Amino acid sequence: MKIKSADFVISNTEVSRCPKEPLPEYAFIGRSNVGKSSLINMLTERRSLAKTSGRPGKTQLINHFKINENWFLVDLPGYGYARVSKKDKNTFQKYITNYFTQREQLVCSFVLVDVRHTPQKIDMEFMEWMGQNGIPFCIIFTKADKLKPKAIEKQVQSYLDVLLADIWEEAPMHFVTSSSKRLGRDAVLNFIETINLD
Ligand code: GDP
Repeated sequence: MKIKSADFVISNTEVSRCPKEPLPEYAFIGRSNVGKSSLINMLTERRSLAKTSGRPGKTQLINHFKINENWFLVDLPGYGYARVSKKDKNTFQKYITNYFTQREQLVCSFVLVDVRHTPQKIDMEFMEWMGQNGIPFCIIFTKADKLKPKAIEKQVQSYLDVLLADIWEEAPMHFVTSSSKRLGRDAVLNFIETINLD
């Protein structure tokens, strides 16, 4: 997919205030510092469409970007940031839950995990919650430039093993990416293009 346009539309915490246009929507979520903003910028070929986090956990908003006038890319807040207060965590959980369960345009979400890390409880719980609520998602492994191919394979497999041993009959689709090496860009964009776009 060629990115002809990528425009910021609106930021908010209310699913009711998200854009009304019935365009297919694809959301990106993951732990703070996982490389989400860098990935969004890499996918859209925009240097700073999504703000890379100087201070992780600060941008607690649902951010809509319109891509090529025919789909929305949604940058969701990073979760699991230790310095966010309990009150903020609860508020965050509520509006993110509302977003995932109420947003009709949402076609698929991408849950980002750092390929260097072993499966983390917070990510597994989040994926489990997505599965239980029937919300389609894929996994995007980030920062693949940090490991050798064999180590990447091992890390990916360890994630899939945990998922399969848990509640899944089939592992979710996954992509291996590196924003600094522009790896995985075509695979993610082609997937988005083939699942719901003309
Ligand atoms: P976010 O908090 O998830 O939005 O993460 P950012 O995109 O702000 O990235 C967090 C840190 O990881 C920054 O220091 C980035 O430079 C670094 N980073 C992000 N993507 C990559 C990548 O593909 N490779 C490497 N080596 N570092 C990355």
